[in-house]
Amino acid sequence: MPHAYIDLLSASLKRLEAWRQSYGPEQIHPSLVVPDERLHAVIAELVERLEGNYPFHHPAYAGQMLKPPHPAAWLAYSLAMTINPNNHALDGGPPTSALEKEVINDLAAAFGFPAAAMGHLTGGGTMANLEALWVARQSHPGKAIAYSQQAHYTHSRMCEVLGVEGIGIATDAGGRMHISALEAVADRIGTVVVTLGSTGLGSVDPLAEILPFCRSRGIRVHLDAAYGGFFYLLRDELPHSADWAALPGVDSLVVDPHKHGLQPYGCGAVLFTDPAVGRFYLHDSPYTYFSSAELHLGEISLECSRAGAAAAAFWTTLQLFPLVSHGGLGEVLRACRLAAVGLHKALQLSPLFEPLVAPTLDIVVYYPVAPGLEAVSAKSQAIFHAGMQGPPEQQLHLSLYKVQNELFRAQYPAIELPAKPTTVLRSVLLKPEHLPFVPELVRRLEHLYAVTT
Ligand SMILES: *Cc1c(COP(=O)(O)O)cnc(C)c1O
Repeated sequence: MPHAYIDLLSASLKRLEAWRQSYGPEQIHPSLVVPDERLHAVIAELVERLEGNYPFHHPAYAGQMLKPPHPAAWLAYSLAMTINPNNHALDGGPPTSALEKEVINDLAAAFGFPAAAMGHLTGGGTMANLEALWVARQSHPGKAIAYSQQAHYTHSRMCEVLGVEGIGIATDAGGRMHISALEAVADRIGTVVVTLGSTGLGSVDPLAEILPFCRSRGIRVHLDAAYGGFFYLLRDELPHSADWAALPGVDSLVVDPHKHGLQPYGCGAVLFTDPAVGRFYLHDSPYTYFSSAELHLGEISLECSRAGAAAAAFWTTLQLFPLVSHGGLGEVLRACRLAAVGLHKALQLSPLFEPLVAPTLDIVVYYPVAPGLEAVSAKSQAIFHAGMQGPPEQQLHLSLYKVQNELFRAQYPAIELPAKPTTVLRSVLLKPEHLPFVPELVRRLEHLYAVTT
């Protein structure tokens, strides 16, 4: 942890303290005072318990979509949190509401959305997608919502919540939605959820084909880019660049700053190209919206209370890492992408591992070479568990992933594929520090292969 950030946090807290004191000396009620000794003891216990975490900060953690926020984000979050503004209504925090509107404008501009686009931050991708699906239902009542079988499970679940029929559309060997399977149900659907960067494989649906298809039939297009969205900055360098280039044409978009935007959890975002969808949100709250006739973010949000600190953290981060391909957040994403390409190449060369599909973003799915798919599952699980054992400086943290066996057809053409899905290994390389670590990652993988049975 860079000490400069801790020093700056402490100096900035002192400045805020002066602002607080300007209202007169603070009186702390005796009911809120804690004895020093007790505080130290409890915090010591907390630290010990926190050390039970996996090392999300380290490149040897190459498992799930997890990493600490950038220290600038926690610095900003911590400062704002001491005030605890609520971005539901302007009354709850004018400055952080203004910061939120600025970051939404930055997001809209970066994604090529019209200047009038409407949106706000959310607690995360789940809430953001729920909101987009709710708007989809309101604008296309009685119609189903379609999503690929690689889409996040939240879509089928939220269709249940909303009482809308959800239809899973088959995907090809690369995890991309089959346009022909979509065509077959086109009459029933009002909205298609397109995923650019699926959570499992990082796969990218064929948006460039889906978009004109839907436009010609009056079908709405929602883009779930909770994970992959910021990769739009690198659209010219990625596979399926035509699908990325089509992104600005969608009706709504979800992106999670708490995944690839360097933020702590509690920061998703939803954007709508047409601000007229705001009419669905109309409500009359007896409690809020008094301080100004300007837009209160709660007027266009399903969630009520939301941390103004999340807006402060994301705004600060975007000042330091603008949404550009060179010199800003793009550099971070490029290193992650190169790490994935590097790992994929190394696994192709290794006699002990095979990549399952070529990575489209920074997620690599691969498996240990074994005689048959049951053996692949068993060996993957053995490597996964063995990686977390031993001294910290030798560990390797991976994640497991269940895949449909059809994806193995090319590798095992001759054998009868078992019905049960196969468990393979998955590494989300969402830290730029993974890039220089790839050779060591492969060395540890091969070592784990050798010591497991
Ligand atoms: C993570 C993710 C979600 C869910 O978002 P949360 O922030 O975890 O609530 C939805 N869709 C995709 C594609 C995701 O990667």
